[in-house]
Amino acid sequence: MAYDPENIFAKILRGEIPNNTVYEDEHVLAFHDINPQAPVHVLVIPKGPYENMAVFGTEASAEEQAALVQGVAKVARLMEVEDPGFRIISNNGPDGIQEVPHLHIHVLGGRRLGGMLRRPSE
Ligand code: 5GP
Repeated sequence: MAYDPENIFAKILRGEIPNNTVYEDEHVLAFHDINPQAPVHVLVIPKGPYENMAVFGTEASAEEQAALVQGVAKVARLMEVEDPGFRIISNNGPDGIQEVPHLHIHVLGGRRLGGMLRRPSE
């Protein structure tokens, strides 16, 4: 599937929609989730047009890939969850319940987070 340049995170990257930035560098933007699921809920995204981790992991440069991982670590430190701990989640595709088709890593923390997965009620 082709990257949709009208997705909401592409608009944030172009400055068309405001965001509450936590961290930014050449390759990465990190900002507070608009609907936080924990006291700390930050989204870390690559600046390049990558829909999901499968695309990012095969098509992004090693520099971009390293920057995303380093961005997650920097956010954990900036948000002071590195030591008590935190969780990273990246929802990919329909089964992963990915809503925004631009790769994003959720960084969640600030409290004990409970079990990892809940089955959907079917
Ligand atoms: P997904 O379900 O795709 O893994 O996560 C998308 C996330 O983006 C959700 O947690 C949602 O709250 C967040 N989100 C959606 N629209 C916006 C927005 O305009 N600004 C911010 N900061 N977060 C958003």
